[in-house]
Amino acid sequence: MIIPEKIANFESRIDFLIIMGNLRFDVVQDAFKKKAATIDTPAGKTSEFFGSQVFNRSKMKQYLDASTYERLVHCIDQEEPLDAKTADKVAAGMKKWALEHGATHVTHWFQPLTEGTAEKHDSIEQFDGKALVQQEPDASSFPNGGIRATFEARGYTAWDPTSPVFIQDDTLCVPSVFIAYTGEALDYKTPLKKALKAVSDAAVPICRLFDPKVNRVFSYLGWEQEYFLVDEDLYAARPDLMLTGRTLMGHSSSKNQQLSDHYFAAIPSRVAAFMKDVEVAGLKLGIPLRTRHNEVAPNQFEMAPVYEEANLANDHNQMIMNVMTRIARKHGFVVLFHEKPFEGINGSGKHNNWSLGTDTGVQLLAPGKDAKGNLQFVTFFVNILAAVQRHNGLLKASVASANNAHRLGAHEAPPAIVSAFLGQTMTAVLRKLLEVPSDTPIEIAGKKGRKVGLVEIPEIFVDNTDRNRTSPFAFTGNRFEFRAVGSSANCAGSLTVLSAAVAQQFKAFKADVDKAMAAGKPVETAVMDCLKPLIASILDTICFEGNGYSDEWKAEAARRGLDTESSVPKMFCKFTSAEAVELFTGQAICSLRELEARADVRWQTYSTKVLIEARMAARMALNHVLPAGLAYQRKLLENLDLMRQNFPGEYMVMGATQIGLIKECSEIIDSIRSRAGELDRAREKAEALEEAYPKAIAAEKAASALMCLRESIDALEEITDNAIWPLPKYRELLFIS
Ligand code: ADP
Ligand code: MG
Repeated sequence: MIIPEKIANFESRIDFLIIMGNLRFDVVQDAFKKKAATIDTPAGKTSEFFGSQVFNRSKMKQYLDASTYERLVHCIDQEEPLDAKTADKVAAGMKKWALEHGATHVTHWFQPLTEGTAEKHDSIEQFDGKALVQQEPDASSFPNGGIRATFEARGYTAWDPTSPVFIQDDTLCVPSVFIAYTGEALDYKTPLKKALKAVSDAAVPICRLFDPKVNRVFSYLGWEQEYFLVDEDLYAARPDLMLTGRTLMGHSSSKNQQLSDHYFAAIPSRVAAFMKDVEVAGLKLGIPLRTRHNEVAPNQFEMAPVYEEANLANDHNQMIMNVMTRIARKHGFVVLFHEKPFEGINGSGKHNNWSLGTDTGVQLLAPGKDAKGNLQFVTFFVNILAAVQRHNGLLKASVASANNAHRLGAHEAPPAIVSAFLGQTMTAVLRKLLEVPSDTPIEIAGKKGRKVGLVEIPEIFVDNTDRNRTSPFAFTGNRFEFRAVGSSANCAGSLTVLSAAVAQQFKAFKADVDKAMAAGKPVETAVMDCLKPLIASILDTICFEGNGYSDEWKAEAARRGLDTESSVPKMFCKFTSAEAVELFTGQAICSLRELEARADVRWQTYSTKVLIEARMAARMALNHVLPAGLAYQRKLLENLDLMRQNFPGEYMVMGATQIGLIKECSEIIDSIRSRAGELDRAREKAEALEEAYPKAIAAEKAASALMCLRESIDALEEITDNAIWPLPKYRELLFIS
């Protein structure tokens, strides 16, 4: 080992350790000195460079002959497959455009069941129609839940033409689905697309009760991406952050978010430069970024675009996460998408703002222009809530993960119970509807003057005054906001479940209305008669306007029959429950095998993450934490020894503080050692298991053992000499930017 000169001159091991500890101060000093990077922003208006890296419709028009363009647009709009001849022409046009923009490579870009995206670059020289439409990456190492044994047939990726190709750096990226040769989906995109189609197919017949011209219903998604930024030097000095994405230890900073002085405050200049850089890159990729601000926790931020069609919006979310990860390093940051990087302060979510709209331009989750439009709105509103109610446990499972487990149910995030918040206005409207005859028109308040007995909806919702941050599924004026989604998650996981659930409910509802109409009821009465039992049920069950964080709510939710399971591995059992199997196979969104595979992947991912954390925490306890504690203890002992030499008669009294601290250190050091041992044993037990579910259950025990170990480590950090502590502290990680 090469000992730096500075260190070699010191004789005692303590001084050596102090110097090692000082490495922390070096990185802190370096991080603190960093200045905002200068960035190149394109001259001119945003509209001049928006989508410049995307082969969008205007590029298609420019680079394809008229008939190829028509054919491609038709295939995109009707979601029909592209024939080989057209594909060749499309590929040629894309290639020309890509070469002009400096692309040297091409890749199918897809979303395997890891959170994140995958790409395998090929030279663009051989790019043709076949390569555009389908590729066969040897992607056997992606999670597949037993669908593909490595020796089995390969999987393939296929272009999703509804999401335009784009250039990232020097590579033409083709958004694709990822499927096994046996036909099962191996990704997030495939079931999402099927579920979105199911929603449209089920919603159109309901819309036609009100307007026969509707042919398609679109799902819209506006995600809000929360994230933390940490200086990269500090990050590099935290092995836990590097390997697990979160801090496995760290005593809380005296000041964190108590003053709420970070939320919406002026954005620090280094961060502002990063955001600007990301925005430019995002806008060039056609991502309509709109909002950026500081979040509640220190060094926590948020970014949101204007909402788009859900499949494209989700691709854009995946793209921007990649962009952010890369650009952060340019600014000396690492971006953390982990749901709970720091204990004791807010974690990060990805609020999914979701709504439905028709191809005739009507927003289905906003009040209409007249009584008919309002009835249509209430119809969708109520049916969506009925679907969420029926599948609340499955929806929760869809957002559950090892990471999100630290967030859901903790004080700042939606609880581990899915309920819905409607706000006073809509609650009152629904209550009123139960009281009045079914043919009572639902009016817009104020339009026709107030008449007693009428059901009225205000024209404009004052949504900001009527918000409930504790609710996982909240109505916010013209959309629902699903807040339980984790910041690192692929939105498609939960959106697929939500879409499948509402499609199923729409179908059942339409069948009921048909029966009522066949019995001679006029449309409006038939619809309202079918809505009433649903309204009564949701008001009593899924709707909850109170404090979702309270303990009373847990008891109340259980009484209402909502899913209150708090064990993540157990939540995943929902994927193969009879209800879920009926939901997914009944609408041909997922097969039983795919559902089993997804549950399996979730369990495996859970175990893998937790067991990596377990190993890391135990190693850090022994390699970083104990040496620091022992060094401090020795320092105290030496101090006491000097006292004994100089004041032999009085040192026991004079050194009472030292003696107390030495004893405290000893106790904590003992508990760290024994708890690290317990953690190792819990981890080994889980590692020895083969089957995904029992393994995940065993891993969950390791997760609790880790929390115990952490408690001791944090207690040691609290009393140990600051100069000796080797790991960047919470205050440094959170307040330097
Ligand atoms: P918040 O106040 O909830 O933080 P933001 O402005 O951060 O609001 O984000 C709101 C998100 O909701 C944006 O992405 C926005 O485009 C999206 N949104 C607004 N209206 C709708 C809608 N009708 N359907 C889907 N998303 C919507
Ligand atoms: Mg927001």
